[in-house]
Amino acid sequence: MPELPEVETCVRYLSSALTGDTILQQTSFRSDLRFPIHPSLQNSNQSLTIQSIIRQHKYIVFKTNIPDLDFSIHLGMSGVLRLVPSDTITLKKHDHYQINFQSNRSLILNDPRRFGSVLYVNQLNHNPAPCALNKLTSQLLSSICNQSKQPIKTLLLDQKKISGLGNIYACEALFLSKISPYQLANTLKPLQLRSLSFAIKLVLKKAIRYGGTSIRDFKSPDQSLGYFQHHLWVYNQENKPCRRHGCVGQITRQAQTGRSSFFCATCQK
Ligand SMILES: [Zn+2]
Repeated sequence: MPELPEVETCVRYLSSALTGDTILQQTSFRSDLRFPIHPSLQNSNQSLTIQSIIRQHKYIVFKTNIPDLDFSIHLGMSGVLRLVPSDTITLKKHDHYQINFQSNRSLILNDPRRFGSVLYVNQLNHNPAPCALNKLTSQLLSSICNQSKQPIKTLLLDQKKISGLGNIYACEALFLSKISPYQLANTLKPLQLRSLSFAIKLVLKKAIRYGGTSIRDFKSPDQSLGYFQHHLWVYNQENKPCRRHGCVGQITRQAQTGRSSFFCATCQK
């Protein structure tokens, strides 16, 4: 699943590639993505120029010269965007949406599982937002944890409470802060909370610097792969020796609330 660093990687690439470009046409090849695609997205006669492309949670938001028509793309579970020259397009299976630009390039959304979406920004749900990761101070993390008797790993993945931290980055942040994924959230000590909120930011920042993690099929819209998978401490490292200096443990994988937790039982207590 594209997580926050992968979405941010897409946004950075698209922003440098498409800001200032004008949309000629939008075409959907099937409208039953996670939400139906609004018909007027494809039928707008107004020419839309991209003013900026930003990330809001895990939405890629296209800001245009007509703010009412700003729209967003969400990659869902399996969405991949590719930006290709319009005259050399070969459509692939699961290509669901295509945006043609004046610069003779097309942005195509491919999404085998169809949990992604293309929506006007004013269609997005503006319910009270869960805590955004860039605002996750140790005080805020502490107040979220104090109210929860869930294991910390389960809480970190609860998108209703904390937005955008996926499994890979939750495992890595818990390792860096030496916290067991099973420790109950409301038993974390102030020092652990400080260390965890620092680790979350560090892991995400580093993952963005490496262009995301290409474990399965993530590619940036220019088709380049992320490199963070070469820098993972625990995720997908089961049975390998723990790399923490001085630790003789080994990385274990265990199913926890339906997801794999990777951790070192020797140094994550
Ligand atoms: Zn260890």
